[in-house]
Amino acid sequence: MTFRAVALVVFAIALALVPVLTPATAEFWITQANYIGLYTLVVIGLVLLTGIAGLTSFGQAAFVGMGAYTAAYLTLTYGMSPWLTVWVGLAVTGVAALLLAFITLRMSGHFLPLATIAWGLSLFYLLGNLDFLGKYDGLLGIPAITFFGTPLNTGRSFFYLLWTIVVLAAIAVTHLLDSRVGRALRAVKGGSTMAEAMGIDTFRVKVTAFVLAALLASVSGWLFAHFQRTVNPSPFGLNMGIEYLFMAVLGGVGYVWGALIGAGVVQVLKDQLQVWLPRLMGTSGNYEIIVFGVLLVLMLQYARDGLWAFVDGVLPRVRRKVDWAAAAALPARPRPSHGEVVLDVRNARKEFGGLVAVNDVSFQVRAGEILGLIGPNGAGKSTTFNLVTGVLPATRGEVALLGRRIDRVASRRIASLGVSRTFQHVKMIAGMTVLENVALGAHLRGGRGVPAAMLRLDRAEERSLMREAERQLQRIGMAELMHEQAGNLALGQQRLMEIARALAADPILLLLDEPAAGLRLKEKEGLANVLRQLRGEGLSILLVEHDMDLVMGLVDRVVVMEFGTKLIEGTPEEVQASPAVRAAYLGTEH
Ligand code: ADP
Ligand code: MG
Repeated sequence: MTFRAVALVVFAIALALVPVLTPATAEFWITQANYIGLYTLVVIGLVLLTGIAGLTSFGQAAFVGMGAYTAAYLTLTYGMSPWLTVWVGLAVTGVAALLLAFITLRMSGHFLPLATIAWGLSLFYLLGNLDFLGKYDGLLGIPAITFFGTPLNTGRSFFYLLWTIVVLAAIAVTHLLDSRVGRALRAVKGGSTMAEAMGIDTFRVKVTAFVLAALLASVSGWLFAHFQRTVNPSPFGLNMGIEYLFMAVLGGVGYVWGALIGAGVVQVLKDQLQVWLPRLMGTSGNYEIIVFGVLLVLMLQYARDGLWAFVDGVLPRVRRKVDWAAAAALPARPRPSHGEVVLDVRNARKEFGGLVAVNDVSFQVRAGEILGLIGPNGAGKSTTFNLVTGVLPATRGEVALLGRRIDRVASRRIASLGVSRTFQHVKMIAGMTVLENVALGAHLRGGRGVPAAMLRLDRAEERSLMREAERQLQRIGMAELMHEQAGNLALGQQRLMEIARALAADPILLLLDEPAAGLRLKEKEGLANVLRQLRGEGLSILLVEHDMDLVMGLVDRVVVMEFGTKLIEGTPEEVQASPAVRAAYLGTEH
């Protein structure tokens, strides 16, 4: 058993003893613990949504309200069992979250947080104005949840149900983060270009995070209704939405268990402040909000990663156990036959306003061939890559892969057809290990989704993905670094990691944008050997590189660009002999 697993068991036992060991005179603390559990559930969702996927929401309290009101209304009006209403609540919240996600998640920048504020407010006023939901008085007399005939109508009995759900949710989300979907979730935080290039549907991933967070909030609402035995709009308004986010930030928005710390500290602190602040100020009022505001600013200044970061710092680093040596190999793509035209670029053009970055450029890459694309800085090489990989739409012209037009196809669809790339400026998830970053490249070669990941039913596939990631790292000579955090690597190693990631996609066409920049001589030689070997296996490679010794000693043909225009195409010998090329390179010798 790992240290973390032992810690979890100890925590679960300690938790189970809380109701037993708390004296009857301290019932108050059982109530506090129950509120902390209810909040933790919501905040775990926020960790997923905000900490992992990078989407800020002030509106989670509204989803808690949906779960709570659905449960309250259905039990009171139809006498429905809470064990049924929880599912109805999940369905109602899920549909509402899906709708909201489709409306708001395409918004960029600050619009999403603003939209979450808007719906947080609207639900509050809606609940307060609906007759059948009791307006601002809410619904009273909600029965307790009954567990095999026993009503959970005391704080202590409710505690067990609540905290079982909290711990299971934390475990499920932890499992999710350590999976194919979890890596995709992390990948959308830094922008969509890299994730889409790995075949990840970033919009869908965001919707997933959004709906999951809403569902966790809904369960919390269901429990809340049966714990308080009454519901009214006030705990589901914007204030509480802000408080949930504060709990997440305080605990550590990137950590599942930070949710517990955040919810715990805020609840206890709020309670104490409500006692002490009015005495200090002489009058009563919601002064704790001011203290929370100041605390939040201090946190963001001095402890951005939240309180759990300190705990995480002392815990031993989790090192993925290498259990995939015997895993099944992932299925491979059929390869085009040698010499077949893989990529056909015909009069591709890209204008940025008045600037013609790529000026009617044409070239072909055949199976089992390395084509070098060279030219001074600003010649349009990276833009050409972006046209081929669907990152940018071409202004005019055609791009075809194995005879099929791809110039109007989305980046991730192109990835799924077997085009894989690296970036001139490394794009990776710095906080993930090298192995996990490379596994991102194999995203489309797996298919397990959220439920499988949460229940750990994805392990066979996960082992195959890890085996593939390690295999590609071995090929590139980096296997011994697989457990490192990617952000700790030297720049040259990060570039090599990107190549391994691209290879993990099992591409038929590989596009490398300045792969040797920052590499040492030995590493460059190693890279050249790997590329030769890949060519021998029938892969097509389009290589942008400034190191002329590397390019000329490696490629079959060269295309030279300058100011967006193709100057010449030929063998390395032909190109090197060309006076036009010499002129273009004068003063920009590399
Ligand atoms: P290279 O990779 O050959 O150095 P790029 O393709 O990056 O060149 O750039 C070609 C030209 O297009 C440059 O003048 C660059 O400033 C311009 N350019 C590239 N991307 C953009 C963009 N997104 N918006 C506006 N101009 C761009
Ligand atoms: Mg470039």
